[in-house]
Amino acid sequence: MRSSSQLQHQIRPEPLITVRKQPPDSIANKLQQWGCITRALQYEAIATVYAFGADVTLPRPMLTLRSSAAMPAQFAFDRGQLGGPGGLLAFVVSASTLARDALQTQVLAQAQQQLGLNLQAVQTIVEKRATFACTPGLQRPALQIAPGLLACGDYVAGPYPATLEGAVRSAVAAVAALTMHPQTV
Ligand SMILES: Cc1cc2nc3c(=O)[nH]c(=O)nc-3n(C[C@H](O)[C@H](O)[C@H](O)COP(=O)(O)OP(=O)(O)OC[C@H]3O[C@@H](n4cnc5c(N)ncnc54)[C@H](O)[C@@H]3O)c2cc1C
Repeated sequence: MRSSSQLQHQIRPEPLITVRKQPPDSIANKLQQWGCITRALQYEAIATVYAFGADVTLPRPMLTLRSSAAMPAQFAFDRGQLGGPGGLLAFVVSASTLARDALQTQVLAQAQQQLGLNLQAVQTIVEKRATFACTPGLQRPALQIAPGLLACGDYVAGPYPATLEGAVRSAVAAVAALTMHPQTV
């Protein structure tokens, strides 16, 4: 029979993260540096213009559009073919800088010119901090915030801009650091 201390040892897993003892000032400095770099990130907006036309369908559920300054939408989604209401289209504008009304007007004109569709605007949603601005020489915050404290997200230093792929890779890197090198994290 095992003693209670042996049982306790058996059921209590070793802590995954061993926070190495460091002077509080050094940890505070690291936190501050990481915070400064993160706060310095600039953001870009992504806008989605929803528009309706009775009996309207696109040739495919999603189309890539030829975008320009005057025709800002890069993608069009047919919500009717994607489980949403028939006749509802969503036009997506990455790195959007225009005001909502001007953007809506341009996108409706783009739909007319490029797709031959007469649409009515339903709603325009502007996500102001949709992605961090991925500019040349940008300094992004590191995986490690301080000893024993890791960050993951699309904005953490990595090879991708603000994308789902970047976010997933960042999470995989954080888990790998915790499980493979717990003593050095
Ligand atoms: C409109 C739009 C379109 C996009 N299109 C694409 C695309 O086509 N392809 C692509 O690859 N990427 C696209 N992206 C970017 C992509 O969505 C992001 O890069 C990705 O979701 C980032 O993942 P993340 O886990 O880092 O952050 P998020 O997905 O932002 O997840 C962070 C989560 O943390 C939660 N949270 C925040 N603060 C707190 C808190 N204090 N406490 C608890 N929870 C908190 C938030 O609610 C959120 O759920 C798009 C983004 C937007 C906004």
